Amino acid sequence: MFTLVPQLTIGVTDLAAAFLFMYGLKRMSSPVTAPSGIFVAGLGMLVAVLASFLYVLGVSAAARPHLLVNVGLAVVALVVGGGAAWWSGKKVALTSMPQMVALYNGMGGGAAGAIAAVELFGKNVQGATQLLVTLMGALIGAVSLSGSIVAWAKLDGVIKKPLRVKGQQALNGVAMLATLAVGGYIVFVAQTDANPLVAMPKLIGLFFGLALVFGVLMTLPIGGADMPVVISIYNAFTGLAVGLEGFVLQNPALMIAGMVVGAAGMLLTLLMAKAMNRSVSNILFTNFGGPAARHAQGEIKGSLKPIAASDAGVFMRYASKVIIVPGYGLAVAQGQEKLYEFVKLLQAAGVAVKFAVHPVAGRMPGQMDVLLAEAGVPYDLIFQLEDINDDFKSTDVALVIGANDVVNPAARTDKSSPIFGMPILNADAAKKVYVVKRGEGKGYAGIVNTLFYQDNCNMVYGDAQAVLVKMIEAVRGLGAAAA
Ligand code: NAP
Repeated sequence: MFTLVPQLTIGVTDLAAAFLFMYGLKRMSSPVTAPSGIFVAGLGMLVAVLASFLYVLGVSAAARPHLLVNVGLAVVALVVGGGAAWWSGKKVALTSMPQMVALYNGMGGGAAGAIAAVELFGKNVQGATQLLVTLMGALIGAVSLSGSIVAWAKLDGVIKKPLRVKGQQALNGVAMLATLAVGGYIVFVAQTDANPLVAMPKLIGLFFGLALVFGVLMTLPIGGADMPVVISIYNAFTGLAVGLEGFVLQNPALMIAGMVVGAAGMLLTLLMAKAMNRSVSNILFTNFGGPAARHAQGEIKGSLKPIAASDAGVFMRYASKVIIVPGYGLAVAQGQEKLYEFVKLLQAAGVAVKFAVHPVAGRMPGQMDVLLAEAGVPYDLIFQLEDINDDFKSTDVALVIGANDVVNPAARTDKSSPIFGMPILNADAAKKVYVVKRGEGKGYAGIVNTLFYQDNCNMVYGDAQAVLVKMIEAVRGLGAAAA
């Protein structure tokens, strides 16, 4: 009966899934439509999963014996995996999002590797091209799995320092060449052997082992702070691996989903690199922000001038235009709700308030947009760098809250700075700048910010949320005194 399920249904379901993926992705390009975009893409994934059951049920056993899987076990795996993902997705803090993305990404790579393993160990590969594609998917998936796990460990603080050995690049090169050599040998033997892959479980095991080791070696030396970009690269790898395995299984939904993820991951990687004015190879092969990258900063003129939160709050209450620059520290302090409460007070007093978001503020692309959206900040108050940078010079106050590198003027002037050339928000051009941070902590790049020493800049020391509470009290106090 099952073999009667027409191929047409499978084709249409795959097409529907592919359409939903792409339409969902399109909707994710704007913060206004992004939530529905995520829902649509999720729906696409559900359709794709259902379509994969149609494959199992719809194709005759004689045609594809390896498709005879245990449907009951697959359902149990889906329920357990789906439940765990739902629970962790609900529970995760915004600042821990990169870790979660790293783990899920690694699982995607692992899944692609697992498909390849089933095909290789189960002797299902037909022909040299399919074998080559399977091995490529296996290699990329395995590298993505082990690399993403290391990335997760670094982001979560399990691995605290970049681990580099002398001759690291050469070691990585040897690991990569050894993996490729074993892969090449498998393809060679498969050509000459009448019954390919039968006698090669050890070789295939070695191939996977080497690929996993290569992923670890490649990721260990990279600075923890560069992990978001590395995760984005592995995301692209995972997509590619899944797409390749989709080709092996001749599953169009898998192919399209994999290629969409691969292309999106690669574009995101390039955008992040561009926003930091760094090349992808610089990210992969240098220890940015680590001891090697620290540069001798020239003598810094000026001094740090602390000011009370209440004074800064009152000053902004009497300003005409205020631009707020949120950064990683705002996410750490979870100060977004209080920030918007403060903004509403300013607006009620007639102050024009805008938010300026840098493309790599925070530790994940879009982190600030999500943070502000979470607090209910209307999208029309949020401006991206290129749309707002000219406004700073006509602004009374730039309130830099938990941000550092993205407003560091050294990026414009100091050729020896690791962030030289990175586009920054022109907060320094505002008439007055208030910087909210806990102390003298450096930003992600590990360098001093010359903005903090400028004559027009005052430091408001404290946890962002606590500072905002004081600012709110001060502005409310003015209203109460006037009444
Ligand atoms: P940042 O340069 O890392 O600076 C964050 C600042 O927040 C620190 O100076 C810290 O100073 C302060 N801070 C930390 N906790 C705080 C708290 N609870 N309350 C108040 N302040 C707090 O952040 P950013 O300006 O957002 O720049 C992002 C950096 O990450 C860029 O260099 C970017 O290239 C990099 N990056 C971003 C991405 C991405 O996709 N967004 C990816 C990779 C790398 P104190 O310790 O003194 O408080």
